[in-house]
Amino acid sequence: MPNPSPTVVSTAASAGFVGAIGNTPLIALPKLSAALGRTILGKAEFLNPGGSVKDRAARGIIEDFEARGLLAPGGVVVEGTAGNTGIGLTLVGNARGYRTIIVMPDDQAPEKYGLLRTYGADLRVVPSAPYTNDANYYHEARRVAEATPGAVWANQFENTANRDAHERTTGPEIIAQTGGALDAFVAAAGTGGTIAGVGRALKAYDPKIRVVLADPYGSALFSYVKTGELAADGDSNAEGIGIKRIVANFKDAPVDDALRVDDRTLTEMAHWLVREEGLFVGGSAALNVAAAARYARTLPAGSTVVTVLCDGGDRYRSRLYDAEWLRENDVVPQATDLSFL
Ligand code: PMP
Repeated sequence: MPNPSPTVVSTAASAGFVGAIGNTPLIALPKLSAALGRTILGKAEFLNPGGSVKDRAARGIIEDFEARGLLAPGGVVVEGTAGNTGIGLTLVGNARGYRTIIVMPDDQAPEKYGLLRTYGADLRVVPSAPYTNDANYYHEARRVAEATPGAVWANQFENTANRDAHERTTGPEIIAQTGGALDAFVAAAGTGGTIAGVGRALKAYDPKIRVVLADPYGSALFSYVKTGELAADGDSNAEGIGIKRIVANFKDAPVDDALRVDDRTLTEMAHWLVREEGLFVGGSAALNVAAAARYARTLPAGSTVVTVLCDGGDRYRSRLYDAEWLRENDVVPQATDLSFL
């Protein structure tokens, strides 16, 4: 048998799961782009090995703990999360030899709890409560970390290793994949790590690139960007995005403008994307694409807007893609074209 050529083993492969995070494709949305006369490109974060944009943050946070000597094999990582960060941390942890304790509110898509249990996380589900309530999952995660000997608290909201991962990887990838020819970047914020990190990388490359926040109703960031005051109105079923306070990862994000997208538009776009572009994505990705399209329309014809396809639709099959759930939440998609934009 011939010897396998050593050159077929790439650096990424030898780094295992962790080495497979990032370098995601930048996918064109040709039908949407043709309808708008502007190019819309989606960074396919659902193709990360843990299935979401948060794999990057998980890797960045864990490698930062390792570099600071706070985490060694056998160690424990604790996090409060809407799900995706927990999934990323658990899989990176499995590959690197760490246990994870994941605290989640009880109102997220059931698929995410199932995945975390399958991956072996010690999952603690707490009643959904606002941040101002001490029972909120964020505060509970801090308490669990404090009570667990030798544990580290990932703290994705205040730990800027999250943002740094995007500044180091996602931003430069987008610049390389577009040859720097983009006019705007549009993204929602859950912790702000993505928009802040990518925004900083893009602004350092070319300050003329617009960085635009896509916000769901119920979040206070749209108002913050527009007026400087935190204020929330309405509500949203979107998972993993929207914040009512300013956290360290979002704080220094170079955001030029903001748009709001309601749940009906998000749902129409999610179903349009799978039907017309073959892209099966989660709600935040659909919201991002809708916001990117609306913002693109304010730019000259021929402009290019990049957005983020944060995670895949599989994670939301019992909600966003379930006929009964859509009826119960009064968001049954009806559009046969892009008239909802
Ligand atoms: N979409 C989904 C589905 C998420 O889970 C998250 C992370 N909470 C985001 C978007 C937002 O990413 P970031 O935390 O980087 O702002």
